[in-house]
Amino acid sequence: MSTKVAVVTGSNKGIGLAIVRALCKQYQGDVYLTARDVGRGQEAVESLSSEGLKAMFHQLDINDLNSITTAAAYFKEKYGGVDVLVNNAGIAFKVADTATFDVQAEVTLKTNFFATRDMLTHFLPIIRAGGRVVNVSSFVGSRTLNQCSPELQQRFRSEDITEEELVGLMQQFVDKAKKGEHKQGGWPETAYGVSKTGLTTLSMILARRISKERRNDGILLNACCPGWVRTDMAGDKAPKSPDEGAITPVYLALLPAGATDPHGKFVSDKEVQPW
Ligand code: NDP
Repeated sequence: MSTKVAVVTGSNKGIGLAIVRALCKQYQGDVYLTARDVGRGQEAVESLSSEGLKAMFHQLDINDLNSITTAAAYFKEKYGGVDVLVNNAGIAFKVADTATFDVQAEVTLKTNFFATRDMLTHFLPIIRAGGRVVNVSSFVGSRTLNQCSPELQQRFRSEDITEEELVGLMQQFVDKAKKGEHKQGGWPETAYGVSKTGLTTLSMILARRISKERRNDGILLNACCPGWVRTDMAGDKAPKSPDEGAITPVYLALLPAGATDPHGKFVSDKEVQPW
């Protein structure tokens, strides 16, 4: 049987690195730590190596389409596809950041929503039967959903929203933010929150598509929240360590063969959450 392979984006530090650490211990296959910066990535591989763990490395900048397609081609060529994909890479402006809201909206949505979607566009076709796809979203995306206008909430929760409609709505948020009209448009004042509302909704849309188009392949795709975790993003006051933050993403990445759920859900503390 061919070697299985797991790939984690943005895993040179924080929760991503902790996910790779846990997979190195628990996953029966090759585990790839990926990073946009080769130096930072290789340093992280070495730090795991000093813990006695063997991670492989591939460069992967999700904001660079060429980097995404190069990586996808590599995994297709070397392994025939990917068995576990964890889309963990993400950004957040600090509260104290002075960048204007329109800039924060454009930059945050670019990485957390549009670039993660690019990853899914290019990697879903090579996810092998029995594959697991985990999108690291956030409880902030659920809170933000509840702060949207009733019309937007209805669309994000609907079973018939298409990927194209969702992409249009995310673009509309960025465009309205540029004109200072997002509030009138029914959007709350949080770029990070909207990006994660979009990512969770996208996960649900893609899971429905997989169920339809690859019915017999047993692939499970979910979004999750790691909890509030001490990382460069969230600061040192958060209650969870990165290893604790990795628990739910890793649980979803390692759902046993033959499992049929959760699929297309938002999961936190290993429990399906209301959306
Ligand atoms: P960190 O800031 O510690 O780590 C983020 C990681 O993403 C880094 O490795 C960073 O790389 C990488 N990254 C950013 N942009 C890109 C890109 N374009 N291509 C590839 N990698 C990229 O954050 P966390 O570990 O806290 O966050 C990980 C995920 O968890 C994020 O999606 C975040 O939104 C989510 N999350 C975090 C929570 C928390 O409390 N910490 C709570 C809820 C969700 P580099 O070092 O090069 O910048």
